Amino acid sequence: MKEKHIIENPDAFRDQFNAVAEDGKRNWFYPQKPSGKWHNRRAWFTVLILTVLFVLPFIKLNDQPLVLLNVIERKFIIFGLFIGPQDYWLFGLTMLSFMLFIVLFTTIFGRLWCGWACPQTVFMEMVFRKIEYAIEGDAGKQKLLNKAPWTASKIGKKGLKYSIFLAISFMIANLLLSYVLGVDELSRIIHEPIADHISLFAGIVIFTLIFYFNFAWLRDQACTVVCPYGRLQGVLMDRNSIIVAYDYKRGEPRKKLHKGQDRTAGDCISCHQCVSVCPTGIDIRNGTQMECVNCTACIDACDNIMDKVGFDRGLIRYTSENAITQKNKKLITPRVIGYMVVLVLLWSVLGYTLASRADTQTTLFRAPGTQYIENNDATISNLYTFKIFNKTNHAITPTIKIDVPGARLQFAGNPDLSLPPTGMAEGTVFIIVPKEALQARKSKLALSVYEGKRKLESFETTFMAPQE
Ligand code: SF4
Ligand code: SF4
Repeated sequence: MKEKHIIENPDAFRDQFNAVAEDGKRNWFYPQKPSGKWHNRRAWFTVLILTVLFVLPFIKLNDQPLVLLNVIERKFIIFGLFIGPQDYWLFGLTMLSFMLFIVLFTTIFGRLWCGWACPQTVFMEMVFRKIEYAIEGDAGKQKLLNKAPWTASKIGKKGLKYSIFLAISFMIANLLLSYVLGVDELSRIIHEPIADHISLFAGIVIFTLIFYFNFAWLRDQACTVVCPYGRLQGVLMDRNSIIVAYDYKRGEPRKKLHKGQDRTAGDCISCHQCVSVCPTGIDIRNGTQMECVNCTACIDACDNIMDKVGFDRGLIRYTSENAITQKNKKLITPRVIGYMVVLVLLWSVLGYTLASRADTQTTLFRAPGTQYIENNDATISNLYTFKIFNKTNHAITPTIKIDVPGARLQFAGNPDLSLPPTGMAEGTVFIIVPKEALQARKSKLALSVYEGKRKLESFETTFMAPQE
């Protein structure tokens, strides 16, 4: 019925979401086991990606994790670069340049990320799906098993599969936490009683269940319904972007192959293999679609068929719309150059910002409602409130110095200025300046923050004195 509809109206596929059946129920896809050159390449790349993903939290630089994404405390370490809660604008710039990089990358290479490196595809297609094939067999056997009554064999297979899924989901939840908390903190927490870390334990359970739900049930719909990146493809890509595409110039008109018959049709023999292997259940011959995650399974499936029937490989391949229609492969287009220019500008601003970033951030304001005080020793005092933030990931004990000869600071009370990583100290302080150093009623004073002999920061404040 659906096939007839599409034959009568080639654009009919656009009117419906293929993951939803006509009766409104979910279309559960049973993609056939992929095999071929591209799948092998992706398998090796998966080994690399998973190795990096699991090893990265253990790598340290200067006794700090190389990568830390602590969204709870808003502390991030990106390859040694520490971004703390005070660096919100630096974080904003980093995110902005990261997003623009994604836009640029997608404009040139399409959804290469989705097929090769996205953790959703990597875990789904290369880990969970492989376990499913190993336990339940290929697509046909899985279908039969799902329809079969609950025998001991079926219970055993399903029980084994879902137990392994749960165990891997638990591992992924811990992996995620190792990026958020760091492996040291995570291992400390694991070795302490659960009762001391109930919220964290609840977090692990919740994330384990989310990952389990995602890989056991949600699957392709994480890409086609949930992922915002997938939905942005329509605006990010253009006719020069590299995509997994069916060469309709070569393939059409598609027609079944019959032995001994002179073939006048195109190279597509309507074998449906490219559809059978697709994890999102689409027919790539309909053109680029939002559901295509560029997993390359259809390339391999079609190449295998081409080999069997003696046609050239590459009826489905990595190419661009313009390369198919005009034989014109052009990666660097004016649009790409425009993105590159903006990206270089952003990176320059980011680089300058990083190079000029101070380790501390001090605010020092005159205490509200106070005036100057004239002292007997020919000095003038102003009262200030101050806050000093440590923007690094290590402890700092700063000293504040005033750059005026004879001037000094006198702290009220005895404030503890030893700052823990990303910590803050505050208090009140008198700045006392000799009268002869003051030229006007309102002067600018220069102050600096030091750690030992190293100057961390310079800033200015205003100082009030009597009119001469
Ligand atoms: S696998 Fe190739 S030949 Fe078979 S239907 Fe798909 S595009 Fe046509
Ligand atoms: S159309 Fe091809 S590349 Fe796209 S998701 Fe389906 S099998 Fe993968």
